[in-house]
Amino acid sequence: MHEATIACHLIDALVRRIDGGEIAGTVSKIHVRVGRMTAVAPDNLRHLFGILAEGSAVEGADLEIEEIPVRGKCKACGVEFDIDGAFFSCRGCGSHDVDIISGRELMIAAVEVD
Ligand SMILES: [Zn+2]
Repeated sequence: MHEATIACHLIDALVRRIDGGEIAGTVSKIHVRVGRMTAVAPDNLRHLFGILAEGSAVEGADLEIEEIPVRGKCKACGVEFDIDGAFFSCRGCGSHDVDIISGRELMIAAVEVD
């Protein structure tokens, strides 16, 4: 269900940009950046996008998904590191006071038109 909601949002956003004249032509490919923290399954999202886009202005467009790893930055010592899994602490000093600096992205990076 998570992916279906996201697919709907993506389609809405694209249709708005097409209606607004920001995108001219037939959309052939959409590049989307998805942070791992969003817990989106790329295959599932691609599949649902294909189904939900039927009958819309982006029907038949390919969804290309780039997964963004989760990265944290320690508030105590400033070290940046990749986060793998739900529990983590700073690789430098062991602090749990960590800012998530990437991995929450869910954005349309580029749209290709024919
Ligand atoms: Zn640290």
